[in-house]
Amino acid sequence: MSINADPQELAKFGELAHRWWDPESEFKPLHQINPLRLNWIDSLAQLAGKKVLDVGCGGGILTDSMARKGANALGIDLSIKPLKVAQLHAMEAGTENVDYREVAVEALAAEAPASFDVVTCMEMLEHVPDPASVVRALGQLVRPGGWVFLSTLNRNVKSFMLAIVGAEYLLKMLPAGTHEYARFIKPSELAQMCREAGLELHSAKGLSYNPLTQAYKLGSDTDVNYLLACKRPD
Ligand code: SAH
Repeated sequence: MSINADPQELAKFGELAHRWWDPESEFKPLHQINPLRLNWIDSLAQLAGKKVLDVGCGGGILTDSMARKGANALGIDLSIKPLKVAQLHAMEAGTENVDYREVAVEALAAEAPASFDVVTCMEMLEHVPDPASVVRALGQLVRPGGWVFLSTLNRNVKSFMLAIVGAEYLLKMLPAGTHEYARFIKPSELAQMCREAGLELHSAKGLSYNPLTQAYKLGSDTDVNYLLACKRPD
């Protein structure tokens, strides 16, 4: 089986990994959006006591916070340095019930199908050659009745202007080249991938950034960054 990953993408995240937990670094946007997405996930899936898988976890910002809500969390990624940073952070912060592994999501789906109550995959699909293959694996990993949460970047003129021109070139919130427009995914396309993976769409949310207040808001504007909540039927 050829691996569904782009080595250049994995290397890019590896090079920045040591700054992952610096809230003023390239990862500032992830730190800023984390409480918003975490609380949304928790409000729907009640994380305490749940077995949770975080796919494309990077340095573990979301994984660690889900464990701190009482989940038993496993983070997986294919870039080794961010995983090491995640493990180190868990040790230093004393986070319990969190583990990290370098394994492809498709391989884990074959190894441990239907074994997670909640599966998350945030800000990762837009870095992968075959996102539908990832979504299929998410559908296999979640147990019947469980939740899958996804987030990515929409593909339209506004998302190009804000997520690439604005964030990378004007405001320099992200390094130039972080995102490739052609890999952005429309909500309708992602919803279709979810259906094909046997998942039912539950709800959608948008994350919008206000450059004046420099704050993110979770709301109904899915034009740029958006999240989907899906359920695997019982
Ligand atoms: N999900 C985390 C990190 C997002 S950054 C969060 O939202 O906080 C994107 C992550 O996806 C990086 O850690 C990168 O290494 C990972 N990634 C990219 N391609 C991947 C692939 N094919 N399989 C697993 N992880 C991948």
